[in-house]
Amino acid sequence: MRLPRLLDLRRLEARIVAMFLGLLLVVQLISFGLIGSSIERNAEASISAELETGERVYRRLLVQEAEKRNDAARVLAADYGFIETIGNGEGQQDVPTLTDALKNHGDRIGATVVVYADREQRLVAATRPQVEGFAKLIAPLTRKMRCRGGSEAIQGPNIVLVGGQPYQVVAVPVCTPAPNGSVLMAFELDSATLKDLKQLSRLDAAVVNNGPDWHVLVSSRPQLIDNELAPQLRADGTLFALKLGGEQLRGRYVSLVRASGDEVGVLLLRSFDEAIAPYRQLQWKLLGLTGVGVALFVLLSLPFARRITEPLKLLAESAKRLGRGDYDTPIEPKSTDEVGALATAFEAMRTDIRAREEQVRRLAFWDPLTGLPNREQFSQRLSQQLNASGRCAVLMLDLDRFKHVNDVLGHAFGDQLLCSVSERLSRLSAASSSLLARLGGDEFVLLLEGADEMAAIQAARRILKDFEQPLHIEDQTVDIGAGIGIALSPEHGIEVSTLLSRAELAMYSAKRRQCGSMVYEAALDAGSQESLSLLGELRHAVEANELRLYLQPKIDLNSGAVVSAEALVRWDHPQRGLVPPMAFIPFAEQTGFIRQLTAWVLAESAKVLQSARLRGLDLRISANLSTRDLLDQDLPVKVEQLLSRYSVAPEFLCLEITESAIMDDPQRALQTLERLHEMGFRLSIDDFGTGYSSLAYLKRLPVDELKIDKSFVMAMEREIDDAKIVRSTIELAHNLGLSVVAEGVETGKAWKLLAGLGCDEGQGYFISRPMPVEQFFEWLPRWQAPDLSGERLDTMFSELN
Ligand code: C2E
Ligand code: CA
Ligand code: CA
Repeated sequence: MRLPRLLDLRRLEARIVAMFLGLLLVVQLISFGLIGSSIERNAEASISAELETGERVYRRLLVQEAEKRNDAARVLAADYGFIETIGNGEGQQDVPTLTDALKNHGDRIGATVVVYADREQRLVAATRPQVEGFAKLIAPLTRKMRCRGGSEAIQGPNIVLVGGQPYQVVAVPVCTPAPNGSVLMAFELDSATLKDLKQLSRLDAAVVNNGPDWHVLVSSRPQLIDNELAPQLRADGTLFALKLGGEQLRGRYVSLVRASGDEVGVLLLRSFDEAIAPYRQLQWKLLGLTGVGVALFVLLSLPFARRITEPLKLLAESAKRLGRGDYDTPIEPKSTDEVGALATAFEAMRTDIRAREEQVRRLAFWDPLTGLPNREQFSQRLSQQLNASGRCAVLMLDLDRFKHVNDVLGHAFGDQLLCSVSERLSRLSAASSSLLARLGGDEFVLLLEGADEMAAIQAARRILKDFEQPLHIEDQTVDIGAGIGIALSPEHGIEVSTLLSRAELAMYSAKRRQCGSMVYEAALDAGSQESLSLLGELRHAVEANELRLYLQPKIDLNSGAVVSAEALVRWDHPQRGLVPPMAFIPFAEQTGFIRQLTAWVLAESAKVLQSARLRGLDLRISANLSTRDLLDQDLPVKVEQLLSRYSVAPEFLCLEITESAIMDDPQRALQTLERLHEMGFRLSIDDFGTGYSSLAYLKRLPVDELKIDKSFVMAMEREIDDAKIVRSTIELAHNLGLSVVAEGVETGKAWKLLAGLGCDEGQGYFISRPMPVEQFFEWLPRWQAPDLSGERLDTMFSELN
C-alpha cells in the first residue's frame, strides 16, 4: 500500500518553513507599510509647517526690504543736493536736474521708478514717463507723515499693483525743512527676496500673477512652466500636492495683493521627494534588514523543520514496515515530546498486532486441540508439493467407533484420545519426509512426499500395526481401529481437492470393507470411466444370473435355535470369481443401481421364505436396505407386491437399515420407515455404533431391533471398553423396547458373554459363515447349539461390574 501524500515529509518540511516565512513576511510587510505611511504623514505635516513658516518668513523679508527701501528714500529726501535742486518749492524748478538726481539715487538702490511730487501732490519729476499710477499712491502713503517728529514705522510690505504689475513702494516727505513735496520709490518684485527665502528655509517660491492673465512673474526655481503650474494651484493658504517635471512637491499659495480683478501672490514650494528622501533611505535599509532576517530565518528554520519531520519520517517508515507485515523491527521513541508519545503508541500497536497476527496464524493453520497442522496448512503444503510436480501420497485416516467412545466415555476423554492418537501418528511419521494434520473430528491425514504406492501401503501398515496396541488413558484401555485411504499423485490426481476426496473415498471404502487400508481405485468413484463399464457389467450380472444369494443364520443366544437368516448378496463374476458385496454395493449405491439389486435380493428372499414355509420352517429373513432404497417412496408398495406374489406375511421379513442411511434424509426416511412399520415389516438398525445417531434419536424411529456392529462385538473379549459399550447399548436398547442382535460372534466366549449381558440374538462365523441358499437348508437341520459351559467369564464380569 502506498502511504498517502500526507507523509511526504519533504513537502511537510517545506510547508512548515513556508508557513513561518509567510507569517514573518506578512508582519514585515504590515510594519513596512505602517512605517511608510507614517513617514508620509509626518513628512506631510512637517512640510505643511515649513510652508507656513515660509510664508511668515517671506512676509518678514518683504517688510525688511520695505524698511530698507524706506531708509534709502529718506536718505534721498534729506540729501542736500537734492533739496537744493528743489529749492523752497516756489517758482520754476529745474526738472531735468531733479530727474537726474532721482535717477542717480534710484539706480543706487535698484528702484524701478522714482517720482517726486510737490506739496500739492502734483507730479514734478519721475525717472520714467507715464507714472501717473505711482503718483496717485503718494497721497495715501504720506498722509500721516510729518517733517518733524521722526520717521513713521513701515506698516507692511507695501505691495501694490500698478498696470497689473506688483511693486513694493515707499514714499517719504521732503523737508526743506518745511514739508515740500514727497519722493516715492517703486521696486519691482525680484528674485532676490525669493533667494533669501530659499537660503533661510529651503523653500522654492514663485511670485505669480493669479489674475486672468496667469503667469509666473519671478521665481527662485528655474524652468517653471505656467501651463504646468497653473492648473495645480489650490485655494489661498491651503496645502496641496503638485508634480513638476516628475518631482513630487507640496505647495502653498498666498495672495499678496488684489486690485480691480487682478491678483498677485506668492507660491511656496517644497519638494516632497527631497523631504522624505532620508526616510526613504531608512526604509530601504529596513527592507534590506528584513531581507537578511528572512534569509537567516529560512536557514535556521530548515533544521528546525527537520527536527520535527525527522522523527515523523522514521514513524512513517515504521508504518510502511507494519503495512508490509514486518512486525519484528521495534519502534524506539527518539524523544519525550508528542512525537515520542506517538512512537510509543506505534510500538504498542506493533506488539499488539504481532501477538494477534500470531494468534490468527495459529488459529488459521493449527489445530488447537492436538497442536497439529490443520486442513488449511495441509492443503497449502500439498499444493506446494503438487506445484513442484513432486510425487507424493496422501493417507487419510479415520478412527473406528470414535463417536461411541465419545458418547459413552465423555468428550474430555474423546479429546484425550485424539491427542494420544496424534502423538502416536506424529511419532510414526516423524522419520519420513511427511506432514501430519488433523482434518477435524477423528480424521487425520498424512502427506508422504516422494512416496510411491508401495511406500504408502507400508506406511499405512505400520500405522495399523501400531494401532493394534491399545491406548491407555486415565487407567482405561482403549482399542483403536482405523480405516486408511490412500491416494497417489500424479496417478490419482494433481489437484489438492481431487487427491483429498479420492483418499477419503478410499478411506470410507477401507472402513466398509474393514480391510484396514485401501488405495484409491476408479471403481470407487461413480463418475469415473471405469465405473461406467462396471455399471454395465453389473446390469449384465442381473440379466445373466450372475448374482447369488447367501444366507447367514441368526440364533437365539439363550436357546441356540436358528430364528432367522441374513440375506447377503454375492456376485459370481465369470472372470473374477465370487466378488464380495463391498466391492460393488457402495458403487451400486452411488449409481442408483442398488434399487434393482435390492429388488433382486427381496425377490430371492421371498422365494426363500416361501420354500421355508413349504418345509415347515418358522424362519425369518433379514434383508439390507440402503439410503437410496429408503428415499424411494414406492418401496413399501413394491415390497408388499413381491411378498404377496410368493404369499409371504410381512412379519417374516426384517429390513436392516444403517444409521447413516437414515441420517442422510431423516425426514423422508422416517416416512418410509413408518409406512413399512405400519405394513407389519420388522425393522432393524444395522451396524449400530458406527454412525452418528444417538439412542435418544432412535427412540423416535419405529424400529424393532438393533444390531450392534461387529467391530464392538469382536473386540469385546479383549477390550473392557468395548465390552462396556456393548453392555450399555444392550441396556439402552432394552429400555427402548428393542431386541438386540450382536453380529460378529466369532467365539463361544463372545456368545456366552453376550448371553450374560442379555443380548437376544447372535450372528457370526462362530455359528456359520454366510452360505448359498441350498447349502443353508442343508446346514439347518444339522445345526446343534454348542456346549459353552467350558467358557470362563468370571474375570470379565467382575471387571464389567
Ligand atoms: P452387514 O449388513 O453388516 O452384514 C454383515 C457382514 O458381516 C457380512 O459381510 C458378513 O459376512 C459379515 N460377518 C458376519 N459374521 C461375521 C463374523 O463373525 N466375523 C466377521 N469378520 N464378519 C462377519 P458381507 O456379506 O461381506 O457383507 C458386507 C456388507 O455388504 C453388509 O454388511 C451389507 O452392508 C452389505 N450387503 C451385503 N449384501 C447386501 C444386500 O443384498 N443389499 C445391501 N443393500 N447391502 C448388502
Ligand atoms: Ca446387515
Ligand atoms: Ca452389520
